[in-house]
Amino acid sequence: MTAAKRVLVLGATGSIGVQALEVIAASDELELVGVSARSSWQALLEQARSHGLERVALTEPESARRAAEAWPAGEVHSGPEGLVELVLESGPDLVLNAIVGSAGLGPTIVALGEGIDLALANKESLVVGGELVMALAEATGARILPVDSEHAALHQLIGAERAGGPGTIERLTITASGGPFRGRTRAELERVTVEQALSHPTWSMGDKITIDSATLMNKGLEVIEAHHLFAIPYERIDVIVHPQSIVHGMVTLCDGAVLAHLGCPDMRVPIAYALHHPQRTELDVERLDLAAVGSLTFEPADLEAFPALRVAREAAVAGGTAPCVLNAANEVAVHAFLAGRIAFPAIAETIEATLHELGAVPVREFDTLFEADRRAREVAAAAIA
Ligand code: NAD
Ligand code: MG
Repeated sequence: MTAAKRVLVLGATGSIGVQALEVIAASDELELVGVSARSSWQALLEQARSHGLERVALTEPESARRAAEAWPAGEVHSGPEGLVELVLESGPDLVLNAIVGSAGLGPTIVALGEGIDLALANKESLVVGGELVMALAEATGARILPVDSEHAALHQLIGAERAGGPGTIERLTITASGGPFRGRTRAELERVTVEQALSHPTWSMGDKITIDSATLMNKGLEVIEAHHLFAIPYERIDVIVHPQSIVHGMVTLCDGAVLAHLGCPDMRVPIAYALHHPQRTELDVERLDLAAVGSLTFEPADLEAFPALRVAREAAVAGGTAPCVLNAANEVAVHAFLAGRIAFPAIAETIEATLHELGAVPVREFDTLFEADRRAREVAAAAIA
């Protein structure tokens, strides 16, 4: 018997993090070696206790202080630098980055820089710093395993196909559920509420990505993510709306054949795929019964009602700091919408105005991105105020 794979979970108290801990607990081949969260210290300590951990990290210092007080036997790392310490000291074979937002970029850089394999749920890392992140992985030999369901699907399809030789892949397609507002007009979207936006039809996820799914910004971020992961030009990556969320991704080949990846929507499947790769594991999830589903439907995305997808594609093609600015402005706008400070359509408007003001500059180092992220947050906040 070989030793278990040592897994560190960042963002462990979130939607992906909690499901990942379930997957890890159900497997003898995976061992949890540390967890982190921003401020939910009680939930984090509960995870540490039930998994017999020695160390955790909380990026919000006051929460870290309270956790340290409540858990004298354990090691509590504090602040963004505490995350770095956790990565270095827990000695993981694999880091699962399930942090939300561009705050995940720092830990992505640390893990890959150390040559540690990365299971990546934090798509924002690739949106913000795709070129540099991929180059870093290439330089250290660390692998990036996508956790995002569409990308896990594509990873499997492409992995199977590339064994047959390069250059056979013509197009990639990622599916979108369409979110809770599919079929509504732009005018109707003026009056939708936060509560309506948070009730996703097929996936239960954290608040930020749920709003991104409602605006279709999530698919924009995913197009950028796919471009970097699979080195396919933007004009060969399609988005199609598929309300049942059964088909997750498709690959069109040079002979006209199309490979599709299907399954019931359950994030434990792509999480387990990334954590166990290159092995497969048995998973106790619902099996797909197509006769019961009955029909799978597809339709084009409505870019008039959901301009965020168009704006994301424009920023992607502009390149440089534009995707970073797009992401930061989106985080600020989503936050403002959740706080009831702006209407739903103002999310995309804020992002477009911020991109318009800041434009795109070339990126040669990560510091350029951290600065662009900071500046974009200021500009987006000013646009909202
Ligand atoms: P979530 O909001 O449920 O959880 C986020 C986690 O990150 C929490 O543990 C939180 O404490 C931590 N966190 C938040 N802000 C932080 C910060 N500034 N610094 C450090 N840690 C911080 O989010 P989620 O829905 O689990 O999504 C996590 C990531 O996975 C996102 O990038 C999302 O796009 C991606 N993703 C999620 C799903 C899903 O089903 N939830 C599917 C695909 C991709
Ligand atoms: Mg996805």
